[in-house]
Amino acid sequence: MKIALVGVGKIARDQHIPSIAASPDWKLAATCSRQGSVEGIPAYTDLDEMMAAHPDISVISMCMPPVPRFDFARRAIAAGRHVMLEKPPGATLSECHALEDMARKAGVSLFATWHSREANRVAAARDWLADKTITRCHITWREDVRKWHPGQDWVFDPGGMGVFDPGINALSVMTKILPAPVHLLGAELSFPANRQTPIAAQLQFTDNVSADFDWRQEGPQTWDVEVWTEAGKLHLTHGGEHMTIDGVEAGADPVVPGEYPGLYAQMAQLVRAKEIDMDLSPLRHVADALMLGKRIETDAFDW
Ligand code: NAP
Repeated sequence: MKIALVGVGKIARDQHIPSIAASPDWKLAATCSRQGSVEGIPAYTDLDEMMAAHPDISVISMCMPPVPRFDFARRAIAAGRHVMLEKPPGATLSECHALEDMARKAGVSLFATWHSREANRVAAARDWLADKTITRCHITWREDVRKWHPGQDWVFDPGGMGVFDPGINALSVMTKILPAPVHLLGAELSFPANRQTPIAAQLQFTDNVSADFDWRQEGPQTWDVEVWTEAGKLHLTHGGEHMTIDGVEAGADPVVPGEYPGLYAQMAQLVRAKEIDMDLSPLRHVADALMLGKRIETDAFDW
């Protein structure tokens, strides 16, 4: 199937372009980006012009930041194209619901992707936890914003979500592996004095589930989920690539194709089955945190 990328920036280059190139399902047929392009692939700066020139491109993958994404997705759906959304799927829940309604009416597939759910041991963690009684869960998601979002001021602008940009990855894992849903009880959000979105967040959920997100960690990065159960402790590390049960490595060999190859394989299945996959539960938790969270001012942040 022919696919186009819109928003050729960091994540498109790091993950989408290589994953499409390696996939048996997809052929990259065009890009739309004001500054980015891919060598040898027709490049456009206007989405409508690209769609008019390529009526055979059935799927469009949206790789720009969340705030501008809705308008691109809306136009692609209106033009009868299937749409794949980078995480977070939108800047608000309302616009995500609106896109889902539009996709249903247009009869096209729509996929809210959550790449961290495709990490090597996440499905295994869900399976192991499915019949366990959980007593506690703690998430530690601490990374360096300067490494992963160098100079990207949009992450600190309204709608950029701040530390929830990576934190929503942790929430996507949490909502996949816990056997029962939880909801937020309270949060503390640390906002740099000169910025509009938080750089750190402490979250407390029901059922003794908590999370610690921080974007100021230099050196080794921490993407861990610990779950205590009556049958032992499960520990996902490296963003779900590794898992131990009571300290013993549980299946280290790769069992899934990789995060982005997994997402593109799923998109192929959704298009063939004419289905929609819009699980918004991670975004709902972020919205709750921004509604309930206590605001703390912290040091100004500059690149
Ligand atoms: P980015 O490099 O800052 O942006 C991607 C591209 O989107 C830009 O190169 C730009 O292309 C286009 N864009 C930016 N602002 C725009 C606007 N206002 N209107 C239209 N197009 C705009 O960001 P990124 O790091 O790739 O992140 C994009 C998405 O991927 C985010 O939702 C992020 O959460 C997700 N993601 C990022 C990472 C990561 O490591 N950075 C990892 C996983 C997922 P043009 O200027 O050429 O139009």
